[in-house]
Amino acid sequence: MGISKSDPVIIVGGGAFGLSTALHLSLRGYTNITVFEQDGQIPSRYSAANDLNKIMRVEYEDPFYTDLAVEAINAWKTPLFAPHFHQTGFLHCVSEKAPEKAVATLKRFQAAAERHSQMAKYVSSIQGQEDIRQLCWQLDGSLPGWNGYFNRYDGYVHSANALTAVYRATQGRGVRFFLGEGAGAVDKVVYENTPRGRKSNGIRTKAGRFHPASLVIVAAGAAATRLVPEIGTQVVAKSWSVAHVQLTDEETSALRGIPVTYARDLGFFFEPDPKTNLLKLCPMGGGYINTDPSTGLSCPPQSLAERGFLPHEDEIRLRQLLRQSLPALSDRALVKKSLCWFADTSDSDFIVDYVPQTSSSVILLSGDSGHGFKMFPIVGRWIGELLESPNDQQQIPRWSWKAPKPETKSSNWGGDVSWRLGETRELAEVQRSRTSKL
Ligand SMILES: Cc1cc2nc3c(=O)[nH]c(=O)nc-3n(C[C@H](O)[C@H](O)[C@H](O)COP(=O)(O)OP(=O)(O)OC[C@H]3O[C@@H](n4cnc5c(N)ncnc54)[C@H](O)[C@@H]3O)c2cc1C
Repeated sequence: MGISKSDPVIIVGGGAFGLSTALHLSLRGYTNITVFEQDGQIPSRYSAANDLNKIMRVEYEDPFYTDLAVEAINAWKTPLFAPHFHQTGFLHCVSEKAPEKAVATLKRFQAAAERHSQMAKYVSSIQGQEDIRQLCWQLDGSLPGWNGYFNRYDGYVHSANALTAVYRATQGRGVRFFLGEGAGAVDKVVYENTPRGRKSNGIRTKAGRFHPASLVIVAAGAAATRLVPEIGTQVVAKSWSVAHVQLTDEETSALRGIPVTYARDLGFFFEPDPKTNLLKLCPMGGGYINTDPSTGLSCPPQSLAERGFLPHEDEIRLRQLLRQSLPALSDRALVKKSLCWFADTSDSDFIVDYVPQTSSSVILLSGDSGHGFKMFPIVGRWIGELLESPNDQQQIPRWSWKAPKPETKSSNWGGDVSWRLGETRELAEVQRSRTSKL
């Protein structure tokens, strides 16, 4: 569409993808960028990235994403991002009862790491408790049948702190922010009819104020379908659980330096955060969706209160994970429990493209599929490249707009993705069984 670098650009969503886009566009010389974020703060409490940590693993089953993750990890080592990257290594295993699908996925990840020229020398095979103890004495559980590999090239990133750093950096570069329900919550993308077809001329906030723009970039994470309903069920709001154990100073110190520890069939945890003494845990599972029966679209719940719980089945998995690896913590209270909402696609590919029939005035940046934060330092570059691409065409076909499908497989949405395990369930169903237990 060829907007000029001084044209007004609006980014909806001040989460991982939105902030990275603001940073990269400003570095490319765009001078009139405004970010709208529905929460009154950044990191936003609605952002999937507002978290202590996210896994930064480079190996993917798919070399396309491995190459991107290599680029991302190098960017995590540059001054703006480096304080938030911790190269503790990644212990990636299955336990003795892992289903065949988990074992096969693990093997593909291991093979990808072992054949990568840059990474291979950092990778070692892990066969059982003894190997794990040599690597990390703190994991003093029985670790029944744990096999897999350890990759020293990987680690984790402190995602909330990284969001804060980029928020400050973009403010420093003159990016404007409208925050909060009154100023930053966007109700809709506004269109006008032109002789050449429908075109957006800005956004309207929930408070009713119109803001003009030459380009609107929707980076609203799990809520993308609310603003771009044309994408239909190609983007599905899905959630996974997060919980923490509150440690003492001594316990945090004792666990300093442990690798990201991931049993594919149970879940994973990270080195405890030295500031809060929280040890973060995520269970492995098919996740939860929130389908509106009237539209067939899954959107995240509107209120934060509805996100603040841990389904019983996930608690069982987490306690099993702790029992096998850090047994002293297995009966401890789980705190700061929440469902974290992300934008899933059926093939785990991102969507980085113009919305059709908008005269290249609206871009959808979505479909993070629960693996997007590691790319935080480089996501915005993809938007810069799209803006400069010939004929407004996304040059990477897998990131193109996905035409909506007429039918949905709501019962196990995204379950065909190789690295996923377990059935996807409806939030309402889980909430019902929760209330019946109270
Ligand atoms: C439990 C869990 C674990 C994960 N672990 C990892 C991991 O280990 N490694 C990894 O790489 N990735 C991980 N991810 C994925 C990562 O968090 C996401 O890929 C990333 O946060 C996606 O960024 P986003 O900007 O698209 O969405 P978000 O970060 O969710 O940001 C979207 C923003 O848009 C705002 N917004 C929405 N609607 C509106 C509106 N109408 N008006 C204004 N603002 C709006 C929201 O408030 C929010 O701040 C995980 C995700 C989850 C849920």
